[in-house]
Amino acid sequence: MLKSLKLVNYRSFSKLYLKFHPRKNIILANNAKGKSNVIEAIYLLSFLKSFRTERNAELIKFGNSFSYTSFEYTYNDILNRVEITIEPKGKLVKQNEKLIKSNKEYNQRFEAVLFEPFDLNIIKGAPAARRKYIDSIITRLSPSYRDELLAYNKVLMNRNKALKIYKDKASLKAVLKSYDTELIKYGASLIEKRKTFIENFQNICASIHKDLADGEEFRIEYKTNIDIMGDIKEAYKNEFTANIDKDIERKTTYLGPHRDDYIVYIADDEVKKFASQGQLRTVTLTMKLAELKMLKSFQKDVTLLLDDVFSELDKSRKKYLLDYVKDMQV
Ligand code: ATP
Ligand code: MG
Repeated sequence: MLKSLKLVNYRSFSKLYLKFHPRKNIILANNAKGKSNVIEAIYLLSFLKSFRTERNAELIKFGNSFSYTSFEYTYNDILNRVEITIEPKGKLVKQNEKLIKSNKEYNQRFEAVLFEPFDLNIIKGAPAARRKYIDSIITRLSPSYRDELLAYNKVLMNRNKALKIYKDKASLKAVLKSYDTELIKYGASLIEKRKTFIENFQNICASIHKDLADGEEFRIEYKTNIDIMGDIKEAYKNEFTANIDKDIERKTTYLGPHRDDYIVYIADDEVKKFASQGQLRTVTLTMKLAELKMLKSFQKDVTLLLDDVFSELDKSRKKYLLDYVKDMQV
């Protein structure tokens, strides 16, 4: 649970100090006064990166050489302090005075779920945005998933490189063989975990959405180009092996979780194509509340960050949301 935040040279703020209430916190200000900047800083505490930019320099107040943020929060009632110093070429994260070099070293992490207008990308965006979304949830539920994902991406990159470089088919095939056992192992595991995740997520979303949106029926369907009806690893191996010649022709790896996607339906209509603006927002909100619920089953304190969430939601949906979050920090 977030206790306080201090910003120095962060975005539009030279200095800002805020203390937070354990339940509802409301930030009210005119346009361009820095409300989203504050949300972004809190998100930074949870994910150690911004949701708006990959470039550190943008987070530093114009005309300055660094930005410093410090936060206090409790994790299972234990007080933690995280400080983040951002310079154009990198950032330094300290937790309770100890340097943290990677996400993996960030224990007693401050858990947050963000809902903001650009989140519509988890429905409307490119498949990569959707993969990133489910990966970010599964990673937080089971940290070893990140290792498998990184391992898969590394083998995939090497394999694709080989497919482009090698001219001689026999030696190419020998090289591919050296990658494919690993690729299939990690790939099948990713698919298995994504499939299980989507099944659980589906159940939670459906029940939230029904109450949030006057009985509307929510459905999410996992799409992968490997057959997932029977034994996934077996099917993966067979299809993958049968496709090797096509990969050689196309000079890239066709089958695998790097091309996964999901489709969201309301009743039988694909939301991406047919939903109204408000409906799209509601569906996104449903998914965010389901994400929150899943995280809360692992860690009691999850803070919900809402940026401009009420626009486009009707009165009954606003009321549902306020009711839903009444016992947590928002
Ligand atoms: P709205 O109500 O329109 O959503 P907001 O209060 O959420 O507004 P923010 O997006 O938080 O506004 O802040 C935007 C302001 O911050 C802009 O005026 C922008 O110029 C300023 N800003 C962003 N990055 C920096 C930076 N690195 N240095 C100085 N100012 C910055
Ligand atoms: Mg804003």
